[in-house]
Amino acid sequence: MILAAGLLVLVGLGLFVAGLSTGITALYWGCVAACVAAAAVLVLARREIAARTAPRTAPEPAQVPVAAGSGSLEPAAGAPVAAAAEPPLDDEDPPVEEVEVTDLLMVVDLKDEVLVVDEHPRYHVAGCPWLGSRSTFPLPLDEARTDGFTPCGACRPDRTLAARARASRNGA
Ligand SMILES: [Zn+2]
Repeated sequence: MILAAGLLVLVGLGLFVAGLSTGITALYWGCVAACVAAAAVLVLARREIAARTAPRTAPEPAQVPVAAGSGSLEPAAGAPVAAAAEPPLDDEDPPVEEVEVTDLLMVVDLKDEVLVVDEHPRYHVAGCPWLGSRSTFPLPLDEARTDGFTPCGACRPDRTLAARARASRNGA
C-alpha cells in the first residue's frame, strides 16, 4: 500500500516534470490526479494498519481488565472481608488449662474421647461453653496430645478426665 502510494507520488512528480518541460496543462492535471490518488492510498493504508493493530491493542486492554477487574475484585474483596470479619468475633481460643502433675500423669495415656475444633489448638470435653455451636470432631486424648492439642482452660478436660479415671479406678 505504502509502496503503491510512493509509486503514485513518483508518477505525479514525473508528470509534473514532464508538464514543466513540455508546457502541456493536461500533464499538470495528471500530476494533481496522481498526488490525490497517492494521498488516498496513504489514507487507506493508514486505516488498514490501524484496523490491523486495533483488534490486538484496543479491545483487549479495554475488555480484559474490565472483565478481570469487575470479576475478580468483588469476590476477592468480598471473601477476605467476610472471612476476616467473622472469625475474630468468637475466634479467640480459651486459655490453656493449668494441669496438676497428678492429673497429667493420670490422663497422659488415656484414650478417652475429647473434642477438637478444626484449626483450634485446644481440646475440650463435651459441654464446654466455648464450643457452643462449633462443629467438633472427637479424638482420643492421647492422640490429641500427640497432635499438639492443649487442654482447654474453660472446661479443663485433663482434670475432668483424671477425675473420671480416678472414679472408675476406685470403682473397679
Ligand atoms: Zn473447652
